[in-house]
Formats: sequence, structure tokens, C-alpha cells
Amino acid sequence: MRVLLADEYGFCFGVERAVDMVEEAVGEGDTVRTLGPLIHNEQEMERLGHQGVTTITEPIQIGRGETAVIRAHGVTPQVQKELEDRASKVVDATCPFVTRVQKLAARAAEADRHVIIVGSPDHPEMIGVKGYAPEHAFIIKDESEVASLPRLRNPLVVSQTTIKAKTFFDTAEAIKTKTDDEVQVVNTICSATRDRQEAAMALSNMVDAFYVIGGRHSSNSIKLVGVCKENCEKSFLIETEEEIDPEDLKGVETVGVTAGASTPEWLIKKVVARLESIENN
Ligand code: SF4
Repeated sequence: MRVLLADEYGFCFGVERAVDMVEEAVGEGDTVRTLGPLIHNEQEMERLGHQGVTTITEPIQIGRGETAVIRAHGVTPQVQKELEDRASKVVDATCPFVTRVQKLAARAAEADRHVIIVGSPDHPEMIGVKGYAPEHAFIIKDESEVASLPRLRNPLVVSQTTIKAKTFFDTAEAIKTKTDDEVQVVNTICSATRDRQEAAMALSNMVDAFYVIGGRHSSNSIKLVGVCKENCEKSFLIETEEEIDPEDLKGVETVGVTAGASTPEWLIKKVVARLESIENN
């Protein structure tokens, strides 16, 4: 059976960088504790756990002699300061794409401008960004919430890094009704999610079956399965190679593989090896 990998799959740049930074701290002998799970992948968290990496939920849980890790989503400046005050060392693995949004929000607030962030108000990345402009920022999830905004002063509109472009631009357009000033719109969407979906879509036309490797609760992995199913009925979401059922592959000549943004390369290699080992007829 032929196994084809999508052109873009697995760890995005920010997640890969965060995992590398954690492993570097472990290698230096630090006691490493991440604020919130580093990534949404059970198997990778287990692997890091074997290296002594643990997760905390509040900065108060970090102690002297320990290294605190800020994950790719970033945190508010207050949380960062609390970690710096308590820990011996802070590893800031905030994705540079998220840092850019934080800086834009902070600069606009300094100039006494309103900041509208389009995204999910409960998402850790959004909570972190708002912390850079606490008195000036509003988080709204889409254009349906524009009516709830007050009149805006020289507004800056930015986005959560993972939302859909259409949601962002429709909302930015609607925001123009809330001000007489010029609206500055800065598209801060990261292309990682879209790139993985487009690559999966392209490959799904060329295969008889498709495996998406990712957490059962990972929204970007679930979306990838939806994309694959549009062209390839036999598309499955699996967490590990053990979930592959050879019965599903009867008569299959070519199988596609992709993975969500939190799926590590070692797990992907195991799935590919398992598929290549299946005798088909
Ligand atoms: S999805 Fe994009 S913004 Fe988010 S961590 Fe990955 S690379 Fe960074």
C-alpha cells in the first residue's frame, strides 16, 4: 500500500518552538513546570512527563528553584510578572505571531486608542492579548457582537491567530459603523491551520483512504477530517497507530496521512510505519 503525506502537517512553528524550548530547559537540568498544558496531545504530554515536565494551573503553584514555561498562547503581563517573581527562571515560549498581536494592542492602548480583538473571549491567547490593553480592548467573536460595542476612538482591529479570514474581515467592516475615525485593520491570522487544511484537501483527491492523526478533542484535527471527507469517504481520526483497523483498508491502494498542529513527528512516523506494514489484498 502506498502512503502519501500531505504537504503540510503536524506541529506548527509555534508549537515546535515551544516543545524545543522545554526540552532545552530539561537538558539544562531544570525542574520544568508549564502554566497550562504545553500542547493538546496526550501522547506528547506523556512523553514530556517522563522527562519530568509537569503542568501547573496557577502561577502561585510555582516555587523557587523551578523553571516556569509560558506556552505558545502567551499570558497577560501580570501573569508573566507573577511567574518572574516566583520562579528561578521563566522560559517564554509565546509564539512570535502572538507576541506581535500583544505588541500591537499595547501600542494602541498607549496612544489611548480602542482595540477590538476578534476571537473567542475564553481562549487563553485572547485573555493574554487583552491583558496588554486592559482598559482599551474588547474581545468579540464575530460581527453579530459589534452592536454591543460603545462608540470607538481611533480603533485598531486585530484577530485571534486561528480564526477564519471571512469572520475577521466581516467583523472589521461592521466595526466601521461604530466610529467616525479611521479604522486600522491588521490581519493577524496565522496561516498554519489554513495551510494544513488546503494540503489535506489537495491530497484527499488522490487517495482511497485518509488518516488524520490528532487528539479526539483537538478542534483543528476534527476540522481536518471534515475537509478530507469532502473528497474521500474513508477518512478517519486516530490518536495512535493502534487504532488502525486493517479491515478498513481492504482494497485500498493509496492512503493519505496528515496530522493536527499538536501532533508530534514521532507519532506520525509510527502511523506511517504501521500503514506501510499492512498487507493488502
Ligand atoms: S497556530 Fe500559528 S500562531 Fe498559533 S502557535 Fe502555531 S504558529 Fe503560532
